[in-house]
Amino acid sequence: MIVVMEQGASQQDIDHVVKSIRELGLREHVITGTERTVVAAIGDDRAKSKENIEMLPGVEKVMPVLAPYKMASREVKKDRTIVPLGGTLGAAAGGKQVCLIAGPCSVENRTALLEVAHQVKEAGATALRGGAFKPRTSPYAFQGLGEKGLEILAEARDQTGLAVVTEVMAVDQVELVAKYADVLQVGARNMQNYNLLCAVGDQRKPVLLKRGLSATLEEFLLAAEYIISRGNPQVILCERGIRTFETYCRNTLPLAIVPEVHRISHLPIIIDPSQGTGHAHLVPDMCKAAVACGADGLIIECHDDPEHALTDGAQSITPKALGNLMKQLRKIAAAVDREI
Ligand code: PEP
Ligand code: MN
Repeated sequence: MIVVMEQGASQQDIDHVVKSIRELGLREHVITGTERTVVAAIGDDRAKSKENIEMLPGVEKVMPVLAPYKMASREVKKDRTIVPLGGTLGAAAGGKQVCLIAGPCSVENRTALLEVAHQVKEAGATALRGGAFKPRTSPYAFQGLGEKGLEILAEARDQTGLAVVTEVMAVDQVELVAKYADVLQVGARNMQNYNLLCAVGDQRKPVLLKRGLSATLEEFLLAAEYIISRGNPQVILCERGIRTFETYCRNTLPLAIVPEVHRISHLPIIIDPSQGTGHAHLVPDMCKAAVACGADGLIIECHDDPEHALTDGAQSITPKALGNLMKQLRKIAAAVDREI
């Protein structure tokens, strides 16, 4: 970190800062300028508290030099991480292939889920989404089928070879969900549930980590760091839109996060244009834009009969629309040297 002293800070203030830097196990390098003094703290200071230095007398500000996350950062690992999703269709996030995960917001019943699984596979998906445990804003809304839903998802995988991606909401569900699913989704509302992050970090299935509704990119990567630091490096980041003052869409989908994540991290990042916009008519164009800017995958809500969907029908596209979209996505992927 770099400690910038106030103009007119005394020698005593500077000595105090130097002493504190040494107490942290770091070395100091004092640069005396004509206007003010700057003290560089040398060594890995990621675990050290910058606030303890910032509060010292005569200190104007403290600037970190290293990213606070380590194992999620590109400083530590240059090669892109490729996360295989499971199933038998070669689904993976982070390689040349852009992965397509599609399916209903929630598993509603066996017949509908099996039907849509075959349809999304036909359209070109290699993974199936569908919530069995649903985080709903209202306690009176459909909460998902629970373990029954997981059984149906596993049956769909057996029939189609699609990898199964489904949400785990609580620490005590991790074992159960990992028994049936190929990829464990940690939802936006749980991005800072640190006990859950540790629990999915302690098991060996890949984790799809959604960005919190109001989380900064740094907080998002620190959440990924929790999972990796427990010994599970298979983390896929998912941008699903953030809450802003805007009202024409359910969330605001900041696609600039894709190239930014690729610049500062080695982890794959995929886009959820369904939660990201809240409107089916906006989904295809956001998918095209996501592929154009380098997204490693898409997770799309797809329903046979969106009007009667139990959850998120307004943002679900039909399997037919997904098939048409795929044709366009293939052209865009080729233009940016990817495949889908
Ligand atoms: C979902 O994928 O249906 C979902 C609930 O997502 P999020 O956690 O991003 O809101
Ligand atoms: Mn949904």
